[in-house]
Amino acid sequence: MKNLILSKERFEHFISLLAKKHNVMGPVHKGYDNFSFQPIKTAAEMTLKYVPTIIPPKKYFMPQYESFLEYDKTWGENMKAVVESEALVLFGVHTCDIAGIKALNIVFSDRPRDYNYLSRKKDVTIMGLECNEYCDEFASCAMMNNHLPDGGYDLFFTDLGDFFFVEVSTLKGDVIVEEIPVFEEALGRHFKELQGLRARKAKTFTNEVGIEYQHVPKILSDTKESLIWNELGDKCLACGNCTNVCPTCYCFNIWDEVNLDLKTGKRVRMWDSCQNEGYAKVAGGESFREERSARQKHRFFKKFKYMVDRYARFFCTGCGRCSRTCMAQINLKETLKKLKEEYAR
Ligand code: SF4
Ligand code: SF4
Repeated sequence: MKNLILSKERFEHFISLLAKKHNVMGPVHKGYDNFSFQPIKTAAEMTLKYVPTIIPPKKYFMPQYESFLEYDKTWGENMKAVVESEALVLFGVHTCDIAGIKALNIVFSDRPRDYNYLSRKKDVTIMGLECNEYCDEFASCAMMNNHLPDGGYDLFFTDLGDFFFVEVSTLKGDVIVEEIPVFEEALGRHFKELQGLRARKAKTFTNEVGIEYQHVPKILSDTKESLIWNELGDKCLACGNCTNVCPTCYCFNIWDEVNLDLKTGKRVRMWDSCQNEGYAKVAGGESFREERSARQKHRFFKKFKYMVDRYARFFCTGCGRCSRTCMAQINLKETLKKLKEEYAR
């Protein structure tokens, strides 16, 4: 690992040169408080102060809709796998979204390995960007301990006024700083400024939910029969927005699309949501989670219990997207607070 600085004066030049050599995606303002990762060619197209994008960067690793098998009955083998990926640089990824990508990496590297995901992962270069201030009232990255850089990126940028402090974390990142020679060595005073920022963050990035995250699985287990789940079920519209925007939700549905010649076609997959009515339906029409309350409970258990049991990792990054987007105003932090109060009683 090495540490460099990039002066603000050279930042535009850096992005322009980067975009000449690579397909660069960055956070772009889309009106009101909405932001989206989009292709960019210049620094001016991006905004570096943004609340989490509508859809997280997972869209570059597992597209909402993809074909992964094509078949033709006239072929000797009848079918062939489709693995498509494109080299990309993601610039300006927040630490919560990097934590989301790390969570997905674990799931898709588990057996059976998902080669479509893994080949995209190999082709994506991640350049992180530190949040100097809390996004808004929906974020809980401090509670989930995702407000500071902790690996999972190739380069990491921290805005320190006149310059960016840049951590080079991988060989891929090193190749980029070597091929675009706009960086300088980080000196003692630069490290001091970084420490100053982190000290200020320690005061503003506080755990306002008031639960140490390691206690959440136990709180959930002990409130399994709580009426809070019914309250959420009564409010929930089963739209699936919360899972679509979640950086760690990865469920998908698979089906075959047969062409009119009835000889050729493809097998596709598309994001699915555990909040959809048909999600837990099985042959014969039975559903294991018919009630919306059961589906809400499942969402929270998946984030804070099941995945902790399986992978020793929370599958909530604290990005706040689910609460920000929910039309029924179901709020993850408020729900956790209520569960904690009930648990403490
Ligand atoms: S976004 Fe809100 S209303 Fe829609 S499924 Fe999720 S919790 Fe229910
Ligand atoms: S559960 Fe909500 S806050 Fe947690 S990672 Fe998913 S969208 Fe973000």
